[in-house]
Amino acid sequence: MSFSSKVRKSLSLEDSGYSGLVLEKLSSSRIQIGDTISVTKDGVEHTGVLMPRSQVGSDSIHVVIKLTSGYNIGIRMSQETVVHRIKPRGRRQAAPTETRIETEGLPHISILSTGGTIASKVDYRTGAVNPALTAQDLYDTVPELQNYANVHAKVLMSVLSENIRPTDWTKIARAIALEIESGADGVVIAHGTDTLGFTAAALSFALRSLPVPVVLVGSQRSSDRPSSDSAMNLTGAVTLAARANAAEVMVLMHAEIGDSYLHAHRGTRVRKLHTSRRDAFQSVNSRPLFRVTETEIVELNPPLLRRELERKLVLKPKFEEKVALVKTYPGVEHSLLDHLIDTGYRGFIIEGTGLGHAPDSLQSSVKRAIDAGVVVAMTSQCIFGRTDLNVYRSGVELLAAGVIPCEDMLPETALVKLMWSLANSKDGDAAKSLLLTPIAGEIDMRSEESEYITRFGGV
Ligand code: ASP
Repeated sequence: MSFSSKVRKSLSLEDSGYSGLVLEKLSSSRIQIGDTISVTKDGVEHTGVLMPRSQVGSDSIHVVIKLTSGYNIGIRMSQETVVHRIKPRGRRQAAPTETRIETEGLPHISILSTGGTIASKVDYRTGAVNPALTAQDLYDTVPELQNYANVHAKVLMSVLSENIRPTDWTKIARAIALEIESGADGVVIAHGTDTLGFTAAALSFALRSLPVPVVLVGSQRSSDRPSSDSAMNLTGAVTLAARANAAEVMVLMHAEIGDSYLHAHRGTRVRKLHTSRRDAFQSVNSRPLFRVTETEIVELNPPLLRRELERKLVLKPKFEEKVALVKTYPGVEHSLLDHLIDTGYRGFIIEGTGLGHAPDSLQSSVKRAIDAGVVVAMTSQCIFGRTDLNVYRSGVELLAAGVIPCEDMLPETALVKLMWSLANSKDGDAAKSLLLTPIAGEIDMRSEESEYITRFGGV
């Protein structure tokens, strides 16, 4: 498998960010964005696909080409630099929202795109990244996908993931169920990275008894930027969805800063731990499930379910929105909780300090919430490790008041699970017991401190 990609774009030269000498030279040779060109400077010839300039403002000095390796290079132009068009860009078709390409014998994989960087391109006038790609664009960006699967690509929504709401999780879960019922051998969800972990957790609870894998994938750099991770991540996701012997919700992203391997993480155990690195996603309190390289899929941790086409999917896609995630901090005021109680919230996940503590000043509001029937549960802002409310007085008092310790669950997974538990239970007591029942690998009563070392030691 080659994880590199060619990119075809149809932006006009005038809108592409080039100006001055560069624009003049490209225009006089009738070169367009997406053409394969040669640039000869100081006796050295560089060949590649002409890319738009990914910067705010215009560039009159550098021309950017994508080499066949997939990397973009910028070449400083002078009057003496010679540019030639070698091959015009491929003709672009009207942009449909659905694409289907069939090759006999290959597995059928559905790619549902929701937006985010992986499905975005740079707006060359403002420099901002917008979720604007169609299914065809997504497919065009990585044409070698057709070597691994019959891809059915469809745009579900085009949003940056900071705007995703629980109702969108419901929509995505229903769309996945439809693809599976129509015979997909695996489903890939292209999604923004900011809230990828929340959606992965939501789908892990909503899609019970999965017959095939569901792989969420994002990218930290859009496909038209140098060192984009989108082609490799997307190709890896399609490969994993097509071949992994697992039937659970996973997140696949770069595992290190180079391009050598990817990790598939359990949907309820994964977190974006870095704002910009390509290996930002890590499993927390658990090992990744698979390592995916150009040539193999290596199992690191057994999946909960194996692929079994005959298994009947059970869809439980509803979430209660009146649940809040509240982080404690020095000086946090109880009026925050009071406001939530007064506005009809049905559950709080507290992201407490250390083993799961909250300042004494919150205690009366916590008791008031529990008396009013609000489900109150505790996680830790330490992220790694598990809660233990039996060690310090403050924890013991919260326990006595009825706060539920969430063991080693991530705070965001606990939030999503409480939303799901409340929407799928007849009352608060049933929701409380569902919250602590392991459903999708989100709680491990035995996870050990050594998991933390493992994560930093690499696997
Ligand atoms: N803000 C973007 C999003 O989550 C970032 C990304 O996709 O990586 O949609």
